[in-house]
Amino acid sequence: MVVTRFAPSPTGYLHIGGLRTALFNWLWAKKNSGKFRLRIEDTDLSRNKQEAVEAIIKAFNWTGLNYDDEVVFQSERFDIYKKYINELLEKGLAYKCYLTKEELDKIREAKMKGEEPPIDIRKYRDFKGELDKPYVIRFKTPLEGKICFEDGVKGLQSVDAKEIEDFVIARSDGTPTYNFVVVIDDYEMGMTDIIRGDDHLRNTFKQILVYKAFGWDVPKFYHVPMIHNEKGAKMSKRDGAVDVMEYKREGYLPEALLNFLVRLGWSYGDQEIFSIDEMINLFDPKDINKAPSRFNKEKLDWLNSHYIKNSPNSRLEKLLRDYGVDIINHDKKEILIDELKERVKTIKEMAEEIEKILNTPSEYNEKAVKKFIKDEVIENLKEFTIFIKDKDPKLPPEWHDIMNEFLEIKGLKPKMLMPPLRIAMVGDTKGIDLSALLSVLGKEEVIKRINKLIAMNEIF
Ligand code: GLU
Repeated sequence: MVVTRFAPSPTGYLHIGGLRTALFNWLWAKKNSGKFRLRIEDTDLSRNKQEAVEAIIKAFNWTGLNYDDEVVFQSERFDIYKKYINELLEKGLAYKCYLTKEELDKIREAKMKGEEPPIDIRKYRDFKGELDKPYVIRFKTPLEGKICFEDGVKGLQSVDAKEIEDFVIARSDGTPTYNFVVVIDDYEMGMTDIIRGDDHLRNTFKQILVYKAFGWDVPKFYHVPMIHNEKGAKMSKRDGAVDVMEYKREGYLPEALLNFLVRLGWSYGDQEIFSIDEMINLFDPKDINKAPSRFNKEKLDWLNSHYIKNSPNSRLEKLLRDYGVDIINHDKKEILIDELKERVKTIKEMAEEIEKILNTPSEYNEKAVKKFIKDEVIENLKEFTIFIKDKDPKLPPEWHDIMNEFLEIKGLKPKMLMPPLRIAMVGDTKGIDLSALLSVLGKEEVIKRINKLIAMNEIF
């Protein structure tokens, strides 16, 4: 059975790079009817694990990714790690290293200068006695040969064993290090496939040595290149490397974000739109790109518009409530949503547009007023209110006919009525289809807004 995992270090929230890693692992587990597990790498006890887990669960809930079994916390497994460290010590595969901080500094300095270090980092490798001094525990790496593995994305990876120094597996306070615990956990959690960022590629050599030391099977590794910003550099918060939930606040749909992320570093021909089921069916980590991907906000917006357009109105209507807009009881809500879902990039934008439409304008675009609101136009507007008084237009086509009838009777060009009407309604010349707008507002409100503009005209 395929078992994958997501193993975040708790940073307080889940960022989009993390979500992409989780998504790849989740898809691969689902595709193989396997398991996707969650492990919190909280060996740094200063961080609050509860908060981190809540943030991740919140983001998982929103995106629909779910994990199997209990969450594993590294902070609760120190005894287990200790047992395995002792096992390596007993087998002579790890040793206590008593090098002092000063000695280590000297080694580091010499290395930085490219000189031969005055002290051997492996000084205590074959030391048999015990000293009454603080120590770390180092792993005995082989002195010759190569460490190799076939990375599922990057192909054959290999390094001369002598390039890997005897790395620390337990610090002087006894706490184990990342490269050690990750192996213990991945083994105990039954991991078969590990998809993670390629910033861990070099760690993998050390981890493989630990698997071998215990005689365990090495899982399949897939190292995924980073997500870069649009300029090809490391992503920062400004580029969008933020909390996943920030995308919700900005009005993105979870399926749009997942679709966007799956395509960041993975492709299937030139297909851009993938439903979750399609992703599960088509995803294969061997198709992950070898080069870093670029975050492209325009693409995310395009996908989001696509999913908004294709969402049922009832769903959008519910989502809008999260952005402070409740139109559940509005009798023209279908027209309003039908119009806006074709135009907006985000639900937040949809909410803002609805507010603009439903609230009587308090400001009028100066340029638009200068261009369209002339004395004769004000006269037309007045006459238009009288013209519609005894009529009962409700749906957009009825409003469309009424406006045309008025223009015909008065012998007017459209620009003498349409743009001014729109300015009266929303303060500007841009927006949804005018007939739809008038229909959504209803006759009473249309007349009210025209009268307000007429009154304002004195001031303009
Ligand atoms: N905790 C590590 C991180 O957040 C991931 C470790 C791994 O995937 O092996 O970068």
